[in-house]
Order: sequence, then structure tokens, then C-alpha cells
Amino acid sequence: MSRTVLRSALVSVFSYRVEARRLSRLLCRRCRSPLDLHQPNPNQPEQFLGTCMDCGQWFRVEAKAGERRALVIQLPEIDEVRAAGLDPLYEPPSN
Ligand SMILES: [Zn+2]
Repeated sequence: MSRTVLRSALVSVFSYRVEARRLSRLLCRRCRSPLDLHQPNPNQPEQFLGTCMDCGQWFRVEAKAGERRALVIQLPEIDEVRAAGLDPLYEPPSN
């Protein structure tokens, strides 16, 4: 059974805009390698998930019709979220 706990904490999220017509050549912000773009939901054709095969970073990408620049959001790393105290199962190491 999954355990859901709602918490909030500060996690760094980077966002920026790129030329929508160059989306197929989107580069990873962290290591500059080309991203693999996925379209997980055909009912949301403007929403993409970008993944970097080299460093493992993930990005949310929104390319709305009629907008020249797509929005890219670099998703936080799981370890960063865990370190911020947002993992319900996380127990800080005892000293
Ligand atoms: Zn990368």
C-alpha cells in the first residue's frame, strides 16, 4: 500500500525558453548532450518529457501551438527532493 504525505519544502527548479522550431535539437542544460524527447500522452500533444541519456537529467517541455518559444523546466533530482525532506519514508541518519 502506498503512503502519501503532503509536505512542502524548497527545491531548486530551473526554467527557460527555447526556440520551438529547434525542439528536436534540444540540449541538456546540465551536460549539453542532445535530449531524447518523449510525448507520453497523445491527448496533450504540446507536452513533452525530455531525458538525457548521458547524465540522466529529466525536463518537462511545453510547446504550445502558436508560441515561438517553448517552456523548458528542469525537474529536480530525486535525491534533492529526498534531501529536502519530501520523501515520506525518509528518516534522517541518527548520529
Ligand atoms: Zn545531460
